[in-house]
Amino acid sequence: MGRWAIALHGGAGVDPNLPLQRQEEAKQLLTRCLNLAISALRSNHSAIDVVELVVRELETDPLFNSGRGSALSEKGTVEMEASIMDGPKRRYGAVSGLTTVKNPVSLARLVMEKSPHSYLAFSGAEEFARQQGVELMENEYFITQDNVGMLKLAKEANAILFDYRIPTTGLECCAAEADNPLMMNGLPINVYAPETVGCVVVDKEGRCAAATSTGGLMNKMSGRIGDSPIIGSGTYACKLCAVSCTGEGEAILRGTLARDVAAVMEYKGLGLQEAVNFVIKERLDDGGKAGLIAVSNKGEVAYGFNTNGMFRGCAAEDGFMEVGIWE
Ligand code: ASP
Repeated sequence: MGRWAIALHGGAGVDPNLPLQRQEEAKQLLTRCLNLAISALRSNHSAIDVVELVVRELETDPLFNSGRGSALSEKGTVEMEASIMDGPKRRYGAVSGLTTVKNPVSLARLVMEKSPHSYLAFSGAEEFARQQGVELMENEYFITQDNVGMLKLAKEANAILFDYRIPTTGLECCAAEADNPLMMNGLPINVYAPETVGCVVVDKEGRCAAATSTGGLMNKMSGRIGDSPIIGSGTYACKLCAVSCTGEGEAILRGTLARDVAAVMEYKGLGLQEAVNFVIKERLDDGGKAGLIAVSNKGEVAYGFNTNGMFRGCAAEDGFMEVGIWE
């Protein structure tokens, strides 16, 4: 019997001026999901079941950028994407361009288990969702008032929002936003930009699994696909480890971050945390900003990021538990 371990994230690139109340809400949600996963792992649930369970929970809560609360496209609609990967057999399922599916991660799992393919997108993915009978909602269900406000600011600033690109110099970390607003292209940014979610698990049998779910970037072009559904970029799992990424999708795609963690473990013999550090340092070019979480088949947990922070939670069978945002 091996030792189980879990890590989850609610996105990297946190605005340092994020109001303390939002920080607390995020930590509470991460803690709730961590506890859910711990009890499932203690009751011998498999890694693939646990990553789906956790990501569904995060998709259903509007706090982070997945399912309800997804970032909005330039058209003001949601186009959600998700992926899931089962390490032992390297089976994989992914979806993009969803507008009505309540829990995209579960549709990704159905693509893996019930279709002859690995990745379905836009109208074909929606059709598959209807055939499979998954829960569907009107597009409005996914759209929150916070995100409508954020999209307005993004449009006024003519920017696709990466909140990790907001200049932070001269600002007190976590200061109240009222007196000293964060500015972007001359406009105050006082709305919290939501972030992608992900989960990686190794169960008692040593099986690794990973899942990632997102609405993508605020004010993205319609049709844009990021790293989150792409095997080896936003998500990867094999016999050795499982990885889920967050951050600037275009940079994560160029660096094939998730697969590279596994590759340097396999080919360079690096340990899990060493592999994570290597990938964050060496594979993010052109100032790309990202973070990732990982577990190994030995029950280790690791994470790394080159942004201001990453919403995250980790736990392992030996009693280790951490929920944090900053370095
Ligand atoms: N990686 C996601 C994307 O580019 C965004 C995020 O992690 O928040 O779609």
